[in-house]
Amino acid sequence: MKFRNVLLILVTTSLTFCLSSCYKWAARAHKELPEQTALDKTYNYQGKVIIVGAGASGLAAAKVLEQNNIDYLILEATDRYGGRLKKDTTLADFPIDIGAEWIHSNPRVLNVIKGKTGDQIDEDFVPYKLESAAIWNGKKLKPVSGAIRNFLYNFMPESKFKSSTWYDFVNENIAKDVTHNIVYNSAVKSIDYSSKKVVVKTSNGKTYEADKVLVTVSIGVLKSNDINFIPELSPDKRKAIQSITFEPGFKAALKFSEKFYPDAINCKVKNGEKVFYDIAFKKDAKTNILGFLCKGDETEKYYALKSEQEIINQLLKELDDMYDGKASQTYMNEYLLENWGQYQFTQGTWTQAFQEKKSTLKVLNQPLDNKVYFAGEINDTYKQMGVPGAILSGYYAADKLLTDE
Ligand SMILES: Cc1cc2nc3c(=O)[nH]c(=O)nc-3n(C[C@H](O)[C@H](O)[C@H](O)COP(=O)(O)OP(=O)(O)OC[C@H]3O[C@@H](n4cnc5c(N)ncnc54)[C@H](O)[C@@H]3O)c2cc1C
Repeated sequence: MKFRNVLLILVTTSLTFCLSSCYKWAARAHKELPEQTALDKTYNYQGKVIIVGAGASGLAAAKVLEQNNIDYLILEATDRYGGRLKKDTTLADFPIDIGAEWIHSNPRVLNVIKGKTGDQIDEDFVPYKLESAAIWNGKKLKPVSGAIRNFLYNFMPESKFKSSTWYDFVNENIAKDVTHNIVYNSAVKSIDYSSKKVVVKTSNGKTYEADKVLVTVSIGVLKSNDINFIPELSPDKRKAIQSITFEPGFKAALKFSEKFYPDAINCKVKNGEKVFYDIAFKKDAKTNILGFLCKGDETEKYYALKSEQEIINQLLKELDDMYDGKASQTYMNEYLLENWGQYQFTQGTWTQAFQEKKSTLKVLNQPLDNKVYFAGEINDTYKQMGVPGAILSGYYAADKLLTDE
């Protein structure tokens, strides 16, 4: 066998090994999906429950409690529900997800979330199979070949909602049943589980009591120690919380009179992600909306700028460098910018629980004296990532909370 062939086999084998074992992509984790969730069970729990946070995870747990006529309240720090799910209908002629946007998991997860059996999915979604893409190295724009785009899609078969959003999906299938029990503008400051009842205090001076509490705030909020646990969290728990990387980042959307860009432009960065992408990809849209997603080290460069407008100007400048001034010429002076990394009640972008050590996830999921439980994106035990992971963790935690003695 020629040396070149041996080398090729070695490279292919090690690449396949790396891809399949080191990097478990959520879309491939459909075998990890549970056969049944708490939605399929009935519970006879008599106590009162407080859920902290009305993001996807807290809303999902609430749905289980609602279904079983359990006495519960959701305390939400902001004046809206959804957490890192947010929809805009002002910029374009189609709704934009300015938080979570892609379905990274196998679409069958949508049925599991709804409590529906089978593989037939009745959501309108489009496979995120790019028809054009480029790589920007800071100086030169290089097109990505069809073969590489196909390879990437086969390895990472993601999708997007066609005329709807993640926000709408969660609203329709989960939130609408539980919003009547949300108390807004109620940032939880302390959770005292030292007595029989758990006492929860909020920053607006209110005190609540419950038999059990489910905490669903982001790992960034837990890292910041903004919530005071009494007794305090064990050193193991604090260490596990601090060990999780939760990078800063933001998302922007800019409106143009012309689509001068490909479906996606991946910018080379040392750490994190930086990508321009066509938000209107395969949507029934007449408006041209270019998205920008930045996470990790590169974010600091934008955070150093003084205003949102300066960030937008910087993005236009970068696009002008790539496309010879085309961005400034066709920009319609309208944008959205959602700075998730600097919001007090998010403090970061997203985590990938499936990439963390099992032992760390076990500690993070461990309840406190069977009175305080944890759920949220990072508590996903089914390797689904993002919104599906957060929702399934909500169902999982609700089941545990309602069945633990
Ligand atoms: C820019 C961006 C892009 C993303 N893209 C995708 C994607 O394409 N696909 C995908 O699946 N996922 C994506 N994600 C991740 C996804 O949004 C999250 O995994 C998911 O929404 C997390 O839900 P959660 O309920 O765990 O947490 P959150 O959504 O963070 O919900 C926590 C809730 O707790 C509230 N809260 C915080 N502190 C307190 C307090 N002290 N007291 C009371 N309430 C409090 C918050 O206000 C919030 O409502 C993205 C995230 C970001 C930021």
